[in-house]
Amino acid sequence: MQKHLDNPVFKLISSCADEVGVDAYVIGGFVRDIFLNRIHKKDIDVVAIGRGIDLAGCVKSKLGEEAHLSVFKNFGTAQIKWGEVEIEFVGARKESYSRDSRKPVVEDGTLEDDQNRRDFTINALAIGLSKNNFGKLLDPFGGVSDIENKIIRTPLDPDITYSDDPLRMMRAIRFASQLNFTIEKNSFDSITKNKERINIVSKERIADELNKIILSPVPSIGFKLLFDSGLLQLIFPLMANLQGVESIKGKAHKDNFYHTLEVLDNVSRNTDNLWLRWGAILHDIAKPATKRFEEGRGWTFHGHEDKGARMVPKIFADLKLPLNEKMKYVQKLVLLHLRPIVLAKTEVTDSAVRRLLFEAGDDIDDLMTLCDADITTKSSAKKERYLRNFAIVREKLKELEEKDRIRNWQPPVTGEVIMKTFNIPAGREVGIIKTAIREAILDGIIKNDYEEAFNFMIEEGKKLNLKPE
Ligand code: ATP
Repeated sequence: MQKHLDNPVFKLISSCADEVGVDAYVIGGFVRDIFLNRIHKKDIDVVAIGRGIDLAGCVKSKLGEEAHLSVFKNFGTAQIKWGEVEIEFVGARKESYSRDSRKPVVEDGTLEDDQNRRDFTINALAIGLSKNNFGKLLDPFGGVSDIENKIIRTPLDPDITYSDDPLRMMRAIRFASQLNFTIEKNSFDSITKNKERINIVSKERIADELNKIILSPVPSIGFKLLFDSGLLQLIFPLMANLQGVESIKGKAHKDNFYHTLEVLDNVSRNTDNLWLRWGAILHDIAKPATKRFEEGRGWTFHGHEDKGARMVPKIFADLKLPLNEKMKYVQKLVLLHLRPIVLAKTEVTDSAVRRLLFEAGDDIDDLMTLCDADITTKSSAKKERYLRNFAIVREKLKELEEKDRIRNWQPPVTGEVIMKTFNIPAGREVGIIKTAIREAILDGIIKNDYEEAFNFMIEEGKKLNLKPE
């Protein structure tokens, strides 16, 4: 164990523990990650049996100028930043909770009290740092064996652990998803039973855990657990609504929840971009709202891409996700997610590809990643056909981009030029001419070039009885 404590800071903490007269332990994620063979976390949590702040003060004085100490007197905690390392010092505590808050009443406690208040056995492991127990592992709940068996289990009765702080339900699912662990049955049953308690947790914290689930290697693991426990229905009902299959006259549509998860897993194999993953989650979000059964055609979801894109801002606001360019990016992916597929189904014309490039701009590659991922058909013949056509679309995209530079393109004749040429103020006519020029270039009627566009502008002006000055 001692070899994992090779960072010189541990020896300093050890001698300070002696000087200050407290027992100190490294606890939580740092210790867990040793047994998971993960790169050591840069955040180190240290508990002191006694005053954590005094211990931090001593360590800071030994580290000197390069270390930065912040003390949070009200919480009895202190933090040292030293290069890349962040060490959190806290006195061992005992917590008691009231029903309506996840903020406990805190009193000083023993190491055992502190381990009892941890969320999972795998997060309750501690290693001694004092001289008399340096490097000694304290594993009162069998956390190491739970890591070996890939199990998430609470140290106490799960009903107590989850009800005290319901955020732990999200954390359990997050760890199961990140690590591909199983939530022990009692624990999972308890999440199902206590799910309503999630309502006392702030939306920001829920979003934080949700994003960690989304960023895990196979995010469907987390979402299935969220759905099966009933939590998803409470925190993100629109997504839960995707689940289910309806059948009329022997015709069933696919289950859009499991389809969405498949797309999300597919995308996740190719990108760590959280917002592209959100694009996968939301690409079919309006399917329940646009679902129709049409005689002779079966199930249709007309306009779900458009409606879905319009739903994105409210979804982001409700979930407390950022309402900035990330949201706009997700909106764009949702809006355009069918376009490459439609292209691949029909003949791939230059003008359709040019239009797609114009609308997607720099996000074209991400859009193509999403569309590839959206092909979840079980028929391998169909899949091959789509992928073949997609390859043609990609080839054409490349060809046209090299030739026309449409990505992030602005038409060569600006509104300014139009106003100046015809001596007209800004207004409807300028808009009409500008659009006509853009459309003509996208359709390949004229080249993407100033002179051709200028001449075209003169012709369009004539139609509106405008003459150049
Ligand atoms: P990582 O940040 O590496 O994903 P983590 O969630 O364990 O892992 P922190 O959130 O910093 O990292 O938590 C550090 C430790 O604090 C945990 O390992 C756990 O022992 C304890 N802990 C954190 N949140 C809770 C909670 N809500 N209830 C009980 N214990 C908690």
